[in-house]
Formats: sequence, C-alpha cells, structure tokens
Amino acid sequence: MRTVIDLEDAQRRVLAACPPLAPLAMARGDALGCVLAGDVVAVEDVPPFDNSAVDGYAVRSADLIAGPVELDVVGEVAAGAPPFAGTVQPGQAVRVMTGAAMPGGADAAAMVEDSERLDGERVRLYRAVAAGSAVRRAGDDVRTGDVVFTAGTVVTPAVLGVLASINAVDVTAHRPVRVAVLSTGDELVTDGGPLRPGQIRESNSTMLAPLLAAAGCSVTALGVVADDEAELEQVLRRAAADHDAVVTSGGVSMGDFDVVKAVLGRIAEMQWMQIAIKPAKPFAFGTLDGVPVFGLPGNPVSSLVSFELLARPALRRMMGHRRLARPSVVAVSDDGLARHPDGKVHLVRVIGEFGNDGRYHVRPVGAQGSHQLAATALADAIAVVPDGDGVPPGADVAALFLNG
Ligand code: AMP
Ligand code: MG
Repeated sequence: MRTVIDLEDAQRRVLAACPPLAPLAMARGDALGCVLAGDVVAVEDVPPFDNSAVDGYAVRSADLIAGPVELDVVGEVAAGAPPFAGTVQPGQAVRVMTGAAMPGGADAAAMVEDSERLDGERVRLYRAVAAGSAVRRAGDDVRTGDVVFTAGTVVTPAVLGVLASINAVDVTAHRPVRVAVLSTGDELVTDGGPLRPGQIRESNSTMLAPLLAAAGCSVTALGVVADDEAELEQVLRRAAADHDAVVTSGGVSMGDFDVVKAVLGRIAEMQWMQIAIKPAKPFAFGTLDGVPVFGLPGNPVSSLVSFELLARPALRRMMGHRRLARPSVVAVSDDGLARHPDGKVHLVRVIGEFGNDGRYHVRPVGAQGSHQLAATALADAIAVVPDGDGVPPGADVAALFLNG
C-alpha cells in the first residue's frame, strides 16, 4: 500500500525536481512569452532627444504670459526632420509636429488647437503655457543606465516594444520547454471511424497539447501508444532523448494493464503518488535519463486537474517563471459546496462570475465525475474545498482560475 500525501507535498516534490532550464541568448523577436534571465540595462535614452508632445508651435513660455500673443513663425520641423538650425528668439515660434526635436531657445510647445495662423508667417496663440509644457524630455521614459527590466520579467508584447525602443537586439531568457505528450490505452481511437465494442475516442492528448502550448511549451504530440511495454518503452526513451519533459496520460493507477507504471517503474526514477485530492488521486512523477516525466491519470477530468495543479507549475518553473500557480481569489459560494469528510481536498470545477459587490461568485458545474469532461470543459475555476462538511451557502471558498 502506498501512503497518501497532501497536494502541497506532491507539488513540492515535483517542483524540486524541475529547476529552471539554462538560459540562453536569443533574438528579441523569439523571446515573446519567455522569462528574462538577466536584468536589461538601457544603453540609450528614450526618448533620445527633447521633442514636442503636440502638433503646434515651439515657443518661449515667457512670451505667452499675458493674453493672446502674436509671434513670428521662423521655421517648421516635422517628426524625423533635422532639428531647427537656429535658436528661437523672443517674439518667435517654430511650427512643430508631434515628435519633432525641440528647437533651441524654445522651452514649451503650444497646441495648434489654441492657435490661429495669420498672414505673413505669423501665428496668434491664445493660451499661456508653462515652461516645459508639452515637451517630452530626453530620457524621461528610459534613461541610459536604467535597469529597465529585472530577471524574471515575462516578455509581453509591450515589453518587446520597450526592448525595441532601447535597441536591445538580443536578450538572455529561458526558452520554451520542449514537451512530448502521449496517451496510452488499447481502448483509444483517433481515426474518426466507427467504434468497436470497448473502444472510446481519445481526448486527453487533444486537450493536453494545447494546454501545454498555452503554458508556453513547445509541444510534440506523439498520439496514442498501445498498452504494450516494449512499444511504450521505445517511445518513452526516444521522447526523453529529444525533449526537456514528457507528459503521459493513463496507465498510472491500480489496473492490471497500467503499462506506464510497469515501464516507467523499470526504466525511470519514479515516485508513485496517491494524493489526497478528488479528482486526480493517482499521479506519477519521476525522471527518465534526467528528464522530468509527468504521469497523469487517464480519466479526462483527472488528467486536466493534475496537469493544472502539478505539471503546469513545474513546467513554468523550468521556463523561469516566478509565479507558478494560476491566479486565485477568495470567492463566494452562492449555493454552498456540500460534501462529506473523506480525508481529501475536493477540487470542484465551478462556473464563476464577478458580481456587483465586486466579489467572484461560483457555483459547481453540473457533473463532477472524473470522466465527465463535457461539464468541466465549461468551468472557469477550480474551487478548493477542504476536507470536512463542505462550504455552506454564501461562505468563502478559494478558487483557482482556469484558462488564464
Ligand atoms: P487509466 O488511467 O489508463 O486507467 O484510464 C482511466 C480511464 O480514463 C479509463 O476509462 C480510460 O479509458 C480513460 N482514458 C484513458 N486515457 C484516455 C484518453 N487519452 N482519452 C480519453 N479517455 C482516456
Ligand atoms: Mg489505461
């Protein structure tokens, strides 16, 4: 008999064996979604020069203190054009477009909306402007020498934009984990043909591959492997040789044909876990030639739940993420989540919605069986119901968001 461990213990064991992959230098464009492994220090100012924040006129603010004034327009600068050659003198203005270099002598920009162009290269300006108004100073977004991003920052599209703005062509980051995913089971069919007696259609790989991809992994879907030890051993060895991690579904519980258990038990360093949760009690984790192997249970809902709670956080750790778990919230269980004590934490799939009270309200999806993926597929979150008599109506319950 195997001892039952709690979820946190299982998570600790798995995480401990999944350290971050070695970081590498990569082209900025390849780093989207990756985690920076080093600080990024700016070697350029952004903006690189003082420039106008508006379409309008570069002026000396002292000229505009009293009422409407008329100034001589002595030049024009577009964004990207060379700076004004001279210096703005008292009584003068330079027409500037947004992003144009501020002419020397000018200390503010007046908006074109507050102006009227007059004959003879003159402009009337209606509003006073304070010194510095509508001027974007060199370096007021990023200054040379600034640590713009620290190690651990996730490269989002906006982060990519900043990296481009400071001409960071390459970054040091953690690459996507290469994961092979496979299903096991003689009953599984993928060819779309009629089902023979005893057969079912494969669904776990179909679900897990995009879950892995959404987690940032680079996925190889190996399809279904029969419950055949020799074949499975060959596939697993090859998967481990070419990947950073392997995810299997099925064959890790107490059945007579649980070949994943038989094969991994022989060729890998495994921990066969019985976790005090429902669903997803059986879970296998280990390393094959140093490569982490996640043995998810075959029941589709269990497969999903153990992927979310055990595999996904570990794969995120391998990719350098600091925040490993899905975001969670203390939710309100409107109708309650009744249960009986059984020594397990129940992971109840729930539909959730933010109410007018600003709180997240949850109710369980109709069918909670570990084979009933159709109901769980519509869940927004997993409510964590501790061992005991459940959550009374209106009481708080912790909920982990699914789907990002
Ligand atoms: P196992 O963990 O292999 O004992 O499988 C438990 C249950 O999940 C059985 O009813 C299997 O038929 C089912 N199952 C296993 N793998 C899959 C899969 N890839 N897709 C759909 N159902 C599966
Ligand atoms: Mg099986």
